Amino acid sequence: SGQKRGFIWHNGKIKPWEDATVHVSAHALHYGSSVFEGERVYKTHKGPAFFRLHAHTHRLFDSARIYEIDIDYTEEEINAACCQIVRANNMESAYVRPIIFRGAGSLGVIPKGETTVDIAILALDWGAYLGDAIHKGADVCVSSWNRVAPNTFPSWAKAGGNYLSSQLIALEAKRNGYDEGIALGHNGLLSEGAGENLFLVQNGILRTPPVSSSILAGITRDSVITLAKNMNIPVEEKELPREALYLSDEVFMVGTAAEITPVRSVDRKPVGKECPGPITKALQKAFFGIFDGSTADQWNWLTPLDTY
Ligand code: PMP
Repeated sequence: SGQKRGFIWHNGKIKPWEDATVHVSAHALHYGSSVFEGERVYKTHKGPAFFRLHAHTHRLFDSARIYEIDIDYTEEEINAACCQIVRANNMESAYVRPIIFRGAGSLGVIPKGETTVDIAILALDWGAYLGDAIHKGADVCVSSWNRVAPNTFPSWAKAGGNYLSSQLIALEAKRNGYDEGIALGHNGLLSEGAGENLFLVQNGILRTPPVSSSILAGITRDSVITLAKNMNIPVEEKELPREALYLSDEVFMVGTAAEITPVRSVDRKPVGKECPGPITKALQKAFFGIFDGSTADQWNWLTPLDTY
């Protein structure tokens, strides 16, 4: 996945792909001090448009704030740069990856004044993250790795270092023949997938672990909750035990990359009677309907590229 060509926005300049490089002394390379976003541009009835650009940029700035990384740009300037780089690459749809990281300088854990803060924005050509699973459902497992505990790494920050945990979960799942792994939290209760938030449906009620359960407060998660409430589907954000996965009528995972991916089995146990189930299907329809206009965008979630 991902083409290695085109242009990258790098510290305020648009550069050819191969010129957007980093020095080996970069703080982020040694200590994981990067924060990033994953956003999608869809081909919509209003032309190519970002989905929830402002929310993503805001979370990027929040992640930087948690780690005391100072940004020399405003949120609006980053929004504009995101639109600019997709236009520069002539793309109608894209996966966009802004990253802010501590750059080259000294190797102290506490960054010195000379350590730079660098920003890059990449626009990649990405299809469905979990491939065919978006239609036929993913086979997932409960990971032997737990998610980071509160008071260790803040899960609300989308920071590079957090993805060491995601790598362990996803690599183990793949090695054992699964599409993705779901981690339990420090308390043994459900948290999230390696790169997705989790939803369960039982008796017509949509349930998802709360944002206090060591999860990333996902923007797709928030969108799905908003759409479900709008469709009069009862939604509960509450702690759930592992066995809830085995008793659910439907399970699905959501994220910018994964979009709304149904889960057809957990630990080789089939989920429900059909996959995708009716509520998953209805939510997929509502979600993708934002992009062709069949769902009214009453929340102003789309930002056409020519807004900036
Ligand atoms: N959890 C994790 C660990 C993730 O990496 C992602 C993807 N960013 C998500 C959840 C979903 O978040 P979002 O919907 O904002 O992309």
